[in-house]
Amino acid sequence: MAEKCTLCPVECGQDREKRRGYCGADNAISVAKYGLHPFEEPCISFRNGSGTVFFTGCSLRCVFCQNFELSRARVTREVSVRELAGIFQALEEQGAENINLVTAAHYVPHLIQAFSLYRPKIPVVYNTHAYEKIDALRAIDRYIDVWLPDMKYFSPKISLRYTGREDYFERASHAVAFMTQRKNDVRDGKMYAGCIVRHLVLPLCASDSVQIVNWFASLRSDAYFSLMGQYTPCGEIGKFPELQRRITPREYKKVRNALFASGIKNIFLQELGAADEKFIPDFSDNTDTLF
Ligand code: SF4
Repeated sequence: MAEKCTLCPVECGQDREKRRGYCGADNAISVAKYGLHPFEEPCISFRNGSGTVFFTGCSLRCVFCQNFELSRARVTREVSVRELAGIFQALEEQGAENINLVTAAHYVPHLIQAFSLYRPKIPVVYNTHAYEKIDALRAIDRYIDVWLPDMKYFSPKISLRYTGREDYFERASHAVAFMTQRKNDVRDGKMYAGCIVRHLVLPLCASDSVQIVNWFASLRSDAYFSLMGQYTPCGEIGKFPELQRRITPREYKKVRNALFASGIKNIFLQELGAADEKFIPDFSDNTDTLF
């Protein structure tokens, strides 16, 4: 990674000792904020909230990113590997139900070092856009209890339009298939191990969402499918008029009906009312909490 980074499918080849890669990360770990998150799936947030660590930078860079300030590395706080291990410990001491690593694909080697310094006693959740290399996932697999990938786009045309990456589905489908092999361990409503695949329905993309539902059903996995209707216009969407509205009840119903007809057993379904800025964490420096 140090001389020519090829950690993720972008393979930008940047020397991260000298400059930032396409993902916005250099060789230092950068965290925007961390804290207890009450609005993840109920089995993840459970009673006390998920101990969420938001890393900055992103190798996928969706134009409508709901955490835009983070993914473009505009909000950054450098921490050492030892400090990151200390964050895991601090969250655990605050009563976090788990450690939830958000968009950390570009920090996999750092995470492995941090876990060698401190191994949390609570489950570790890997929360990702799924545009990942299998080798990187295998490298960190032994430290992860719950895989929490997004499955964002089926059509190469749509992923190209919103991320510049035509091979999103090709890469992400392999990554998600790898993650769904993890057996679920859910006791008394809390997930200790397993996989939840999320999908956010986008305006004008209900048919693409249905393709994702059908693809997921074809895996015949016990993993959970979490359908989200919380799309809120954000980010660099000036050139994308179709993204400047929320999804309609009709669009959501089309995907929801496909999900109910798919035979997928384990489902989370978000209410359309969740499409509100109040569910997007506050990344300003003015507060110590996420919400
Ligand atoms: S992780 Fe970042 S620096 Fe490394 S290949 Fe991907 S985009 Fe480039």
